[in-house]
Amino acid sequence: MSDSDLESRLWARIEQRGDDECWPWQGAANARGYPKLTLGQRREVGALRLLYEFAVGEIPERHWLHHTCGNMGCMNPAHLYLRSYKSIPASGEAAPRAKLTDDQAREILAARGTVTARELAARYGVSPGTIGDLWRGRSWKHLHEK
Ligand SMILES: [Zn+2]
Repeated sequence: MSDSDLESRLWARIEQRGDDECWPWQGAANARGYPKLTLGQRREVGALRLLYEFAVGEIPERHWLHHTCGNMGCMNPAHLYLRSYKSIPASGEAAPRAKLTDDQAREILAARGTVTARELAARYGVSPGTIGDLWRGRSWKHLHEK
């Protein structure tokens, strides 16, 4: 799928209102209520990140999007801002976590209790131990602090 297809699919699910208003997401949400876009059978992307990248620009590493309006389903780019993680894991930390993006790690945290670690491990291409460490807060500590 090309970027422009992706972008049009994204915008098709956003109800655009006034500049200062919240723009409700009409698509699916992940377990935590954040907008997501499904690409094919198993691939999902965070719609907020996508929106920000199309509408504003690239998201630097270790930055997370926040809403000025506090409405997690809001897709008005003017209501999004970037913040860096409060604590950045020391370099040289265990390698397996490097296989997951922050978004994926957040999805895995959100999926806890709904699927097994083994299923998630297969889906994300990591070991079940990596999923368990994440759930128990042994890795990705910065996500647990949120
Ligand atoms: Zn808003």
